Amino acid sequence: MKALVKSKSEPGLWLEEAPMPVPGPDEVLVKVRKTGICGTDIHIYNWDEWASRTVPVPMVTGHEYAGEIVELGSNVRDLKLGQRVSGEGHVIGMHSRAARGGRFHMDPETRGVGVNIPGAFAEFVKIPAFNIVPLPDDIDDEIGAILDPLGNAVHTALTFDLVGEDVLIAGAGPIGIMAGAIARHIGARHVVITDVNPLRLKLAAEVAEVTPVDVSKQDLADVMHKLGMKEGFDIGLEMSGAPAAFETMVDHLVMGGRIAMLGIPAKPAPVDWTKIVFKLLTIKGIYGREMFETWHKMIAMLQSGLDVRKVITHRLPAHDFLIGFETMRAGQSGKIVLDWSEFESAIPPSAAPTAASAQAPQRRKGPADRRAGTSAADPRATP
Ligand code: NAD
Ligand code: ZN
Repeated sequence: MKALVKSKSEPGLWLEEAPMPVPGPDEVLVKVRKTGICGTDIHIYNWDEWASRTVPVPMVTGHEYAGEIVELGSNVRDLKLGQRVSGEGHVIGMHSRAARGGRFHMDPETRGVGVNIPGAFAEFVKIPAFNIVPLPDDIDDEIGAILDPLGNAVHTALTFDLVGEDVLIAGAGPIGIMAGAIARHIGARHVVITDVNPLRLKLAAEVAEVTPVDVSKQDLADVMHKLGMKEGFDIGLEMSGAPAAFETMVDHLVMGGRIAMLGIPAKPAPVDWTKIVFKLLTIKGIYGREMFETWHKMIAMLQSGLDVRKVITHRLPAHDFLIGFETMRAGQSGKIVLDWSEFESAIPPSAAPTAASAQAPQRRKGPADRRAGTSAADPRATP
């Protein structure tokens, strides 16, 4: 199958033939339709210090996806062939106290799809059935492909009660922008989003009714004054990873304010703890998504009017991935979605599903046919 592989310990990603994943008894095989490019993928593409330390080579990359189940492991009961799905990209163990206590997102054994285990920038990806999240009909594949970062935004934005509060979001990257839309949707009063990239601030204001502030040109105190705010923001959502943004946030929060911190600083950075202590601030680190409460809430919010589609600024066929990576690296995009359907043409006629089975994918052959080695729909026959 075709996949975007980190096949060399150097900057870049390569569209190559990769081994077809074989799902185990508790896993499903997903035919990938659309994928989102994430900041994590950019780190892997750049092959920075974190990536070279973390990602074994070769590795099929990518973890934001929507697709269709084409094979079920023998133990999988409550999923169906042909079902449209996305899924949680953090694959957990079941040994830790946290996991056994049901706090799945706090499991220290977590491995990342497309980081530590083969990923979704591919024609097919195998995923534990536990991680699969079925997509309702009213959530299409491109939104399905960005649920992972939307989930980061939802997890962060729902950490503290935003209803009627004044919210400061640092960083108008795709996640910060989506957090702005969520804060609006759930009833925050003022939502101010900061960045130093004018294109992203413009996009933020197009996606949601937020006040964009370029902190390299504007003073946040002036903006607060114009909005009629007297004391400071009640809640901060740190989504930039920039130490300077965190400092600005601390300076503009109310006494007793709360910060949900998703952004990951590139390296250790000094923090003025005195201000944090004297302001009685609460800071909570946010990692991933809550399994699976975040997924439930985000799908429910999408179904009740949350609209983040405009955060997708580029839609590209998968073979144009380099354009996508370079555009994102340059900060010239919101979310970029790659379409993998072009590779269906690569399935030879002998292995392609018939017109009837394509319309009724639940009739596609499963593992039993594969074992018999005679499946006409065996996706592993892809060259
Ligand atoms: P991104 O890099 O696209 O966006 C960050 C934005 O912050 C950029 O637009 C940048 O211009 C802006 N910025 C830089 N300096 C700033 C400053 N001084 N003030 C305000 N903004 C500034 O990232 P993203 O994909 O939207 O993700 C947001 C953050 O969350 C990143 O740090 C990412 O690494 C992190 N992240 C964390 C998790 C997690 O589980 N904790 C998951 C995904 C992403
Ligand atoms: Zn991601």
